[in-house]
Amino acid sequence: MSKMCGIIGYVGNKNANEIILKGIKRLEYRGYDSVGVAFVKDGKIIIKKDVGRIDEVHKKLNFLEPESNIGLAHTRWATHGSVTKGNAHPHLDCNEKIAIVHNGIIENYQEIKEFLKKRGHEFKSQTDSEVIAHLIEEFSRRVDFENACKKAFSMLQGSFAVLVINKDEEKIIGIRKDSPLVIGINENESFAASDIYALLPFTRNLIFLHNYDFVVLEKGKVRIENLIEGKVEREVERIDINVEETDKKDFHHYMIKEILEEADVFERALNQDELKVKKFIEEIKKAKKIFLVAAGTSYHACLAGSYLLAKAGIFTRPIIASEFNNFLNAIDEDTLIIAVSQSGETADVLEAIRKAKERKAKIFSIVNVYGSSLTRESDEFLLINAGFEISVAATKTYIAELAIFLLLHSKLTNKKINKEEIKAKILDLLSRSRREHIEKVAELLKDKQHVFLIGRGLEYVTALEAALKIKEISYIHAEAFPGGEIKHGTIALIEKDTPCIVFVGEEKEKILSNTEELKARGGFIIGVSEQNERIFDIWIKVPQDGEASLIYQIIPMQLLAYRLAVLRGFDPDKPRNLAKSVTVL
Ligand code: GLU
Repeated sequence: MSKMCGIIGYVGNKNANEIILKGIKRLEYRGYDSVGVAFVKDGKIIIKKDVGRIDEVHKKLNFLEPESNIGLAHTRWATHGSVTKGNAHPHLDCNEKIAIVHNGIIENYQEIKEFLKKRGHEFKSQTDSEVIAHLIEEFSRRVDFENACKKAFSMLQGSFAVLVINKDEEKIIGIRKDSPLVIGINENESFAASDIYALLPFTRNLIFLHNYDFVVLEKGKVRIENLIEGKVEREVERIDINVEETDKKDFHHYMIKEILEEADVFERALNQDELKVKKFIEEIKKAKKIFLVAAGTSYHACLAGSYLLAKAGIFTRPIIASEFNNFLNAIDEDTLIIAVSQSGETADVLEAIRKAKERKAKIFSIVNVYGSSLTRESDEFLLINAGFEISVAATKTYIAELAIFLLLHSKLTNKKINKEEIKAKILDLLSRSRREHIEKVAELLKDKQHVFLIGRGLEYVTALEAALKIKEISYIHAEAFPGGEIKHGTIALIEKDTPCIVFVGEEKEKILSNTEELKARGGFIIGVSEQNERIFDIWIKVPQDGEASLIYQIIPMQLLAYRLAVLRGFDPDKPRNLAKSVTVL
């Protein structure tokens, strides 16, 4: 699977170099292998690019010179062509008149490339993206720059967010299809970027583009038309978010900063528009079939959701988005899809809901990013309001997604959520003394190769999510099982001192008996529970409180995964091979 990264463009009366450098750095969290910029200076396009981190490449090539007021920047996550300087973006046409940056994949690039080669174009990279520059060049022989871009974009298949500059025109032209692109606008300046996080330091006036929106940015002026629908009106939305809140400040990593926000995040997620929640509940009661669709951590939230809704008497089928295809024949107009995604841009999820829509299913979603494709393509959505999550490993958004499922459960069962009490307990779990205890546990585990985790019911879901956190940032192999399942095979892997994390919940007797089986094979038992048990080698104390235990039990595990990554010398914010939002299939 491939991942995606960032683009930004600026045209205005300020120093474009400084703006796009700051902006592209704010897209760093999305993951990348190379970086590059393009500026127009004295009627020429200047490109600087290389493999490596933004800071290193900037140090070597100095992105701040020559000063210009129009520029593009790109962080690449290679999909076509290896990680080399030549394959880094921006890419030029033959006459170095046009520079492009692209996020996504051009599926029909081979065909286009053959066509262009026959017409004499020479290619300098192995990327799919380079065809875009040459295609525009080809059409520019007959029509003006804007129309050449339009023609070129209409030929592209796949997913793309593209920005283009031309050495003779003070404008940026762009398009998006299935890859994110947001526009920002101020008096005398215009911006485009992969997400609003990159634009917030500069502007609050944003336009969220739809698929096939074709944009022309000039200083403080934006024109948009849709290549399929023709003339369209796109609203300028004013987003009031405090940029400060999105900065790392004194924390070593975003991940720990984000975990420490969880008490507030939980409270905010519960603050929902009553009417919208009512709609969710009505649909849930009405639907004949319900699928909960997501990927990664959000899938675990769905799994938790399926247990919670089952407790309320409602049967749902949680399903990993990329597997959804296999269930299409079972989808009809009486089906409700509840799709869950932090970014709202996860390609697997979007593909699933689009296919479900074709079969007339209702699409409701639970999303963090407002304005994302998922919010736009759903019949109804609830925002989890977790704020920006920069760390690749999802933590606070998991808590917020759980909060929404707890809310749905509480509405269906008329069981009230004690918000204040839960919040206080979260704060306690995040207190210094609790964190110090987790640090000690991490010391014991840091050199281990395998960890096994068991739980039953809601605690099984927690075991799965805890295993994912440990794997993705500390690279220790961690595997989770329902407590009753381990004896059906996996127990063969338990040796002397194999760490086993046991989550104790409502089925206490049973899980403790499962734990005996592990202990008998030599397992080193780390118990996560309200009470200490004789069988535990170490105890992590958490409150036991029915459904809310989902939240209490995962918090120490997020802290543990974080600490393990740090102790093992890895950057928890940027795990290897991973990107924040997986926007390609
Ligand atoms: N497919 C393009 C490449 O490999 C763009 C990848 C990206 O989104 O950065 O260069």
